[in-house]
Amino acid sequence: MMKTPFTTKEKLEEIIREIPTPFHIYDEKGIRENARLVKQAFSWNPGFREYFAVKAEPNPVILKILQEEGCGCDCSSLTELMMAKAIGSSGDMTMFSSNDTPDEEYIYANDMNAIINLDDFTMIDSFARTVGTFPKTMCCRYNPGGVFKVSNGIMDTPGDAKYGMTADQLFKAFRILKSNGVENFGIHSFLVSNAVTNDYYPMLAKLLFQLAVEVEKDTGCHITFINLSGGIGIPYKPGDRPNDILEIGEGVRKAYEEVLVPAGMGDVAIYTEMGRFMTGPYGALVTTAIHEKNIMKNYIGVDACACNLMRPAMYGAYHHITVMGKENAPLTNIYDVTGSLCENNDKFAIDRMLPKIEMGDILYIHDTGAHGFAMGYNYNGKLRSAEVLLHEDGSFEKIRRAETPSDYFATFSELPVYRTLMSEV
Ligand SMILES: *Cc1c(COP(=O)(O)O)cnc(C)c1O
Repeated sequence: MMKTPFTTKEKLEEIIREIPTPFHIYDEKGIRENARLVKQAFSWNPGFREYFAVKAEPNPVILKILQEEGCGCDCSSLTELMMAKAIGSSGDMTMFSSNDTPDEEYIYANDMNAIINLDDFTMIDSFARTVGTFPKTMCCRYNPGGVFKVSNGIMDTPGDAKYGMTADQLFKAFRILKSNGVENFGIHSFLVSNAVTNDYYPMLAKLLFQLAVEVEKDTGCHITFINLSGGIGIPYKPGDRPNDILEIGEGVRKAYEEVLVPAGMGDVAIYTEMGRFMTGPYGALVTTAIHEKNIMKNYIGVDACACNLMRPAMYGAYHHITVMGKENAPLTNIYDVTGSLCENNDKFAIDRMLPKIEMGDILYIHDTGAHGFAMGYNYNGKLRSAEVLLHEDGSFEKIRRAETPSDYFATFSELPVYRTLMSEV
């Protein structure tokens, strides 16, 4: 399948006149349409809610768009909770799915009445010690261990993952929570990341539904929701077959009718915490080719680096690249596309066939809408880029300015050298 940018060269040139590259750009239309499709896919379940994984794209403007489409927020840290609260996503519109959680984050989450998802059995004690009383609704994260295999060969090893509780611990946890006044229970599990198959959610759902039936029978706890978490993938490579969320929703419905309904549990709500699937394809990193270097290999140096998009450097992840204006040009050159970090893994592409690139060409790096800007960092003193939102009517809006040296130096403000540093900027 061809991968095509969601905007044009002319539009990008217009934006660049105002906001220099590099920047991440997001497609509001794509985000909204996709969010509506997700809602439709699970509309058979009256309690369904998608809690967008804030960590995937922590920008309040994007969160607000998703909120308008009915999504809640799934947070994993204090600042993510603060952001959710700031857009008015308090109470059961916010899920707190953290791990190795600092005590004060539980206090904050509890104060805003977020639904708390305990990652570990020992967190019951931490919670009791710091917060005191338990809320009426709580969730526990489950880790089945072993190897989880999806039909198309995608595999992950929950047995090696640091998350969740064993089944034994989960049963015990529910009993303890119940005796402490908790009335509504949820079960959560996250087993596979970036699953590009329609079978992952249905298989995970079946496993969790069967567990839920056992737990309810055994402990008498009232299970009110099953949280399928994130992990639904996107087609990063041109040949990848995209997930069909409608088929995924149907698959979950089948498992629901097979397992939960006969057990008298037809009132259980389905929750999801997708990040990547919600925004991944609707973001791109826009960067300019600034150097060409020919040694043993041919390099194109761009003005973005791994600090703007870490996935290729960190996981060897593939991100498709379109040279704007050369969408239909023959792929005549083999390039490594690199950033300027003093790190040899700072490469957006290795041995990539691309059209001949001239200095000044705009490169559009696809699928950076989730875990893109969000994983940014400041190594080599690099500054984080701006973020731009492309509205449905074609207008654009800066939804985060680029960092400046003063942002970078701000954490030195208590040192005498700070004034000198600031006099340089
Ligand atoms: C990362 C994460 C998500 C989102 O994962 P995606 O792969 O982006 O869908 C959801 N829930 C939890 C607890 C996570 O850690």
